[in-house]
Amino acid sequence: MDCIFCKIIKGEIPSAKVYENEHVYAFKDINPNAPVHVLIVPKTHIASVDEIDCSNVCTAAEVFKAIPHIAKICGLENGYRVITNVGEDGGQTVKHMHFHLLGGTKLAVKLN
Ligand code: AMP
Ligand code: ZN
Repeated sequence: MDCIFCKIIKGEIPSAKVYENEHVYAFKDINPNAPVHVLIVPKTHIASVDEIDCSNVCTAAEVFKAIPHIAKICGLENGYRVITNVGEDGGQTVKHMHFHLLGGTKLAVKLN
């Protein structure tokens, strides 16, 4: 499978790692939209939130469990935003489920 985030997780493509555990990998977005912009991904390939089912929900939970820890590492004690895009209309460009962790400034309030 030709998945850029699987390659990043395997170390085949370089990334600026922020955090890693058995289930989760987090790295800086190459094209940041905020002073802190980190991508948090499960180490196993799940295409998007739309693929979550009974067989992989524990992996998804591991991602959520890691978010407060990663936010702390990034110094986001004043708050942050977590976004995941799904499919064409959601604007998802990489088909490996990922959560954008954004912060480091007062973020604009917008729905799209
Ligand atoms: P999305 O549009 O939600 O699918 O988000 C994909 C994100 O991946 C974008 O914000 C890109 O800037 C980011 N991205 C793509 N390739 C890389 C890479 N090699 N390293 C870090 N971030 C990347
Ligand atoms: Zn993948």
